[in-house]
Amino acid sequence: MSVSAASSSRRALLGLGSNVGDRWAHLRGAVDAIPDVVEVSTVYETVPIGGPEQGPYLNCVVRLETDLTLRDLLELCREQEVAAGRVRRVRWGPRTLDVDILWVDGESVDDEDLTVPHPRMHERTFVLIPMRDVAPDLVYEIPGSMGGDDVVPLGPLTGPRGT
Ligand code: ATP
Ligand code: MG
Ligand code: MG
Repeated sequence: MSVSAASSSRRALLGLGSNVGDRWAHLRGAVDAIPDVVEVSTVYETVPIGGPEQGPYLNCVVRLETDLTLRDLLELCREQEVAAGRVRRVRWGPRTLDVDILWVDGESVDDEDLTVPHPRMHERTFVLIPMRDVAPDLVYEIPGSMGGDDVVPLGPLTGPRGT
């Protein structure tokens, strides 16, 4: 069942991650191309969770004020992944770019190909910590430590490169 008849602008949060190729360029390219972005979290370097052994990620979360529907947003996520040359081989495997819809104010959906809010965000420090930067009202608790060495802040996306 879908509830996505958005007619006026509301907050949407997208989570971005990259661990293949020029990770900064992939995040920057996507954030530049995504419409209606009003805030970008700090960029964090994070230890991969799940999936095969793979290199560390850069993660960030962007906040949009947008009237795009959930379906429009999913299309946007897919477009950005294609633009970054993402190839899917194994679940949770290495990727040039992952863009997920985390949250949209007042809306939820549980379809075969789209679940919002994102069903795994509450267990992922690499999502919750950057999300807290741009939407502190939505992050009640960070499981485990307050990040430790698994989620290391590098700096703003537009600033000098951390790596
Ligand atoms: P995870 O969802 O655990 O973060 P992932 O991001 O690696 O895993 P993908 O391979 O990027 O998974 O996406 C698989 C499918 O998930 C997509 O084709 C998309 O249809 C679906 N999907 C379901 N809910 C969402 C969501 N909230 N945001 C983005 N994609 C979603
Ligand atoms: Mg993901
Ligand atoms: Mg994804």
